Amino acid sequence: MSWGQLVAGLRALWAGIRLRCPYCGRGRLFERAFHMRATCAYCDARFSRARGEFVGAVYLSSTLTLVLALAGFFSLEAWLDPPLALQLALWIGFALLFPMLFFHTARGLWVAIAYLTGGVYPDPDYERQWVSPEARRAAAKRRARRE
Ligand SMILES: [Zn+2]
Repeated sequence: MSWGQLVAGLRALWAGIRLRCPYCGRGRLFERAFHMRATCAYCDARFSRARGEFVGAVYLSSTLTLVLALAGFFSLEAWLDPPLALQLALWIGFALLFPMLFFHTARGLWVAIAYLTGGVYPDPDYERQWVSPEARRAAAKRRARRE
């Protein structure tokens, strides 16, 4: 792996953490709070090619939740030795809340990982014709009014 590839990989992961398209670094991954776009508004890179690809993000989130909860549990146990019921309430609450707070970042990271493994790119039949996201939304509204 060359220095340039390492920097490009880190740039893609950083774009994922920032919830941006890892292909161009500009387009947003999410259209609304819990609705991910199918393609990038700037470069038309398709974020997900197969059904259920989001499961990778679930694994990522679950693994990080487990590691943090176990590390927190044992750290707190060694440091303060709180009652077990308090520990369980704290870390079960954490395990329920953290995946919801980490949802977007996990999806972004998973899209970046998909990009790094060759799964995020514009569709081959796509003809490059840049349209601003605002113009796309206006066109979609016009189409919706006609129907
Ligand atoms: Zn893009």
